[in-house]
Amino acid sequence: MPLYAYRCADCLDFEVQFAMGSAPASLPCPACGAPARRRFTAPNLSRASSSAYRLIESTQRSASEPAVVHSPGPQPGTRPAGNISTNPLHRKLPRPD
Ligand SMILES: [Zn+2]
Repeated sequence: MPLYAYRCADCLDFEVQFAMGSAPASLPCPACGAPARRRFTAPNLSRASSSAYRLIESTQRSASEPAVVHSPGPQPGTRPAGNISTNPLHRKLPRPD
């Protein structure tokens, strides 16, 4: 259940849990009993780190909106050019037969 923030004119702010959409516009202050008006705050949308949140978002989005590509993928049986190393030391590494 979400937390709703209230502000008493004389005391401090306080938060109360209500079911979504059922919070009243004002509540009696728990300290002095005066009516405290509901305060509207920015929602806490993301508590995850931004990279984790981006991964979750893109995974969910890919279910209904697949990524648009500008060219077809590599043909079967061909090696993608990006995997070929230009480092001369890699020629000395053992190779599969
Ligand atoms: Zn008060």
